[in-house]
Amino acid sequence: MTRFEVVPLTEVPNITFKRNDGPKAALDSANSIVVDEGAEVLCEEKARLAREYHAATSAFSEAVKELHRKIGTSPKEEYKRLERISTEARVKSEQARLALEQHISDHRC
Ligand SMILES: [Zn+2]
Repeated sequence: MTRFEVVPLTEVPNITFKRNDGPKAALDSANSIVVDEGAEVLCEEKARLAREYHAATSAFSEAVKELHRKIGTSPKEEYKRLERISTEARVKSEQARLALEQHISDHRC
């Protein structure tokens, strides 16, 4: 492995800020969506990140469903374990969403 970078979570607020930077920025990004329509389809990295995000999101929703099924019917330790799993799944889906947003922002795709 030559390169492995974890995106620091401290960069997250900047992305959010940039993406909501007033009506003009919103207008610009709306324009660029139209202009880049072809690129959106062609960007494989974006498609891959979007697939990862959807997979992580459905894993999270499954974990939450499982957790709710077990309420009141499982021993406390089992419930705690499932709670941990669903929390981890939520964090993963958030990270996947941020990776997708960051790619879109960096790549303008
Ligand atoms: Zn891209």
